[in-house]
This record gives sequence, structure tokens and C-alpha cells, in this order.
Amino acid sequence: MSTSASLQKLSPHCRAYLQPPWGWCVNNAGVVVGSDRTLLIDTTATIDRTRAMRAELHAAGIGDPRYIVNTHFHGDHTFGNCVFDTAEVIGTSTTAREAGDAGLALCGLWPAVDWGEITLVAPSILVEDRLGMDLGGVEVELFDVGPAHTSSDLVVWVPRERVLFTGDVAWNGVTPFALMGSVDGSLAALQRLLELDPAVVVPGHGDVGGLEVLEQTRRYLLWCRDLAFEGRREGMSPLQVAQRAWSEGTVPELSEAERLVANLFRVYAELDGVPTGGRIDIREPFSQMSVLSGAPPLSHA
Ligand SMILES: [Zn+2]
Repeated sequence: MSTSASLQKLSPHCRAYLQPPWGWCVNNAGVVVGSDRTLLIDTTATIDRTRAMRAELHAAGIGDPRYIVNTHFHGDHTFGNCVFDTAEVIGTSTTAREAGDAGLALCGLWPAVDWGEITLVAPSILVEDRLGMDLGGVEVELFDVGPAHTSSDLVVWVPRERVLFTGDVAWNGVTPFALMGSVDGSLAALQRLLELDPAVVVPGHGDVGGLEVLEQTRRYLLWCRDLAFEGRREGMSPLQVAQRAWSEGTVPELSEAERLVANLFRVYAELDGVPTGGRIDIREPFSQMSVLSGAPPLSHA
């Protein structure tokens, strides 16, 4: 693990924990500090990374969180839950189920990563659709905008300070990834988030920004959807469509560009009748990402 992670103050009660240069399984987390309770938004992929985050929080005078929100089930956002053994974990019932189904499978994708001794801690406070919380002088709203990045995606909105923590519904400088959710669903979710008119957007991966983070994600997904429609009309496979865009140099300059083939795969699946955000076999698109870029996706977690 090498990390240049840092805690960044966003507003009187909100901070982001950023882990540049991001990449596969290297995410952002967030913190909302109330007068009597602290809410942590996601943890990190490994025990060492989460311990480093905890040390940064303590150095900033922030104690262990009373609550952790898991925005979705992916291990880079949830595996560190067990480091905070006094926190209660909040998530949707779908996220709780999907975290249980996925288990530690993510570790098998990147065996070279030092994940540490992870004990899975699933959400025990279950949110259906929406939850309002008062952390003591600061109100927070959680709502499920999925299916988007996965079949269920909680975002955290601090209305008084207009700070929005999107989880992996939005990305900055990093390729969006909707294989386990929905491109159409993501576009609908982004529309809802744009209507909140946030001043600060903390994406799941990539730097903090404003509305342009939501716009950038939306622009990419619209491009991707158009590309899928066009390729499908021409009888091409998702891999062929991605390879053509790759060779023509039209793929947006975002990191982890190989995700294109997986996103196209998702659009095709839904055009073929899979319900929005419905579960699909992800093995083939995962291996096609390696074909597209010429190497297996690399994680620096
Ligand atoms: Zn994710």
C-alpha cells in the first residue's frame, strides 16, 4: 500500500477523505461531524488503509464514528467497517443482502493486494428509500437513488451546507462503472442529484468538485449509451464497439478507460430484456476489460 490520502475540510461540518490517485478499489470516504455524533460515509478496501483513515480522523480531533453509511455493497467502500467496532452500519436492505452474497470475492480479483484480516460487517440499520438524521446541530438526509452504480445506491446530502456525498454514482477524472447497476438508472439518478443543486460534490473516486462532477459523469454515460445503441444496430458486440472507439481515439480521457466495455455490456443486457439494475453474470465483461486494454485491471489498494 502506498497512500497520499488526506482529510479535506469542505464546510463547517463536512470533510472528505481522499485517496489519490484512486483507481480500482481506491475510493473516497466522507465525514459529517455533529455536536454529539459523527457519521462516516464508507470505509476503504483494506484494513491498513482504514486504519490510516482512522488515524487521520483522530489527528483532526474527530473521534470514532457513531454511524457508518455504506453507500453500496462494494468492498472498497465496506471492508473497513470492522475497524470501527463501536459504530453501527447503515445501508439499504438490498446493500446488506448484496454484501452478504458477494462476501470477500473482491479479494480474489486482486490477490496481490494486502487486504488484511477483514471481518464482514453488514448494515444493521436498514434504510428503505430515505432516512433523515440529526447528528446534533447538523441534519443529514440519506436516500437511495439506485439502481445506478449498483442495484441500490445511497447518497448522503447535507442540505444546510449543500454538500453531497455520491458514493460511486458520480466520478471525477475516473471512468464511471455501471456494470452491476444500470446506465439508464445512473442517468436518472444523476438528474435527481443535479436538481439538489449541491455546492460541493464528493464522488466515490476522484477529486472533490461541484456540479461539473455530476455533469462529467452524465456526459460519459450518455456517450456510452449512444455508442451502445449505434453498435447494436450495426450488429456489433460490446467488445467490438469498445475496440472501435479505442482505436479511433474517441474514448474520453478518464482513468480506468477499460470500463467502457463493461458499461456497453450493461446497456446491451438491458436492451435484451434484463430489468434496470437486474443481476447479470459479470465474468465475461470483466475478462473483456483485459482484452480491451491488453492487461488485467490493476489495483493499487
Ligand atoms: Zn463501487
